[in-house]
Amino acid sequence: RKEPVHQLDTGLWLIGATALLNFVAGTICLRLGKKNNSLALQASGKHLQIDTYSTLVIIAGLIIILFTKLYWLDKLIALVMSILIIYNGYKIIRSSLAGIMDEADMELLKKFIEILNKNRSENWIDLHNLRVIKYGSLLHIDCHLTVPWYLNIHEAHHEIDRLSALIKQEFGDMIELFVHTDGCLPFSCRICNKNCEHRKNGFEQKLEWTLTNVISDKKHQL
Ligand SMILES: [Zn+2]
Ligand SMILES: [Zn+2]
Ligand SMILES: [Zn+2]
Repeated sequence: RKEPVHQLDTGLWLIGATALLNFVAGTICLRLGKKNNSLALQASGKHLQIDTYSTLVIIAGLIIILFTKLYWLDKLIALVMSILIIYNGYKIIRSSLAGIMDEADMELLKKFIEILNKNRSENWIDLHNLRVIKYGSLLHIDCHLTVPWYLNIHEAHHEIDRLSALIKQEFGDMIELFVHTDGCLPFSCRICNKNCEHRKNGFEQKLEWTLTNVISDKKHQL
């Protein structure tokens, strides 16, 4: 019959190796996630690292038992671990249910607007009423795009398809996009530099889209 203490010893090495693997995998996930702007990967990375910390608590407990022979400590460690697991689960569920935007989401949103500015078509007169809903690691973005009032449905649809394809190409399934179109109004001419035969007002100033101004629920006016 093997000594219980000897078995504990072997278990310690196994758990230790698992913890190390988890930590390394977590760090790799976090790095790749940041590099590729993948929230899902970053979340998995953080999760793996938290698992490592929990495992370290178990190892510390087992070492104490090994040296002190206080076998009742086993139950205390199990209790502490349960509380830790429940607390972590609660935090993960809460942040995804509440749709709390974290730093990575804000970076993603800034990049989203930057890409639209850079690839802006002359028919994309104004972007406004932008709303973001977070589902787990997915961002659902809703926005209004002002296009010339005389475009037909086919032409307006083409503008939205071009915009959506751009976002799809950059973010893949990270962003789910819904674009509503508005027709331009006479005041839109001031921020529109399209060579347009229906012009009602002179062009004054191109409006660079920013995180703050696209959230506004009104069409932009000068
Ligand atoms: Zn609108
Ligand atoms: Zn369609
Ligand atoms: Zn016009």
